[in-house]
Amino acid sequence: MLFDKLFNPMPPCRHCSKTGNIKRHGRGTAGYQRYFCTSCSRTFQTKYIYNIANKQNAMSAPSPQQ
Ligand SMILES: [Zn+2]
Repeated sequence: MLFDKLFNPMPPCRHCSKTGNIKRHGRGTAGYQRYFCTSCSRTFQTKYIYNIANKQNAMSAPSPQQ
């Protein structure tokens, strides 16, 4: 669907750099979106901008271990 592409664009494959054969493949242990490339039959992960923003907020918070 066109709307789905605009809202959630598929990233290029980390291994073969193709974008037309990417499928969602659940989420990784850190909550990142996992993708499966049907072109090279490999999985890879990427970070949403939303998750990066959350991580920056968490890093700016004071840590009890420091
Ligand atoms: Zn690939």
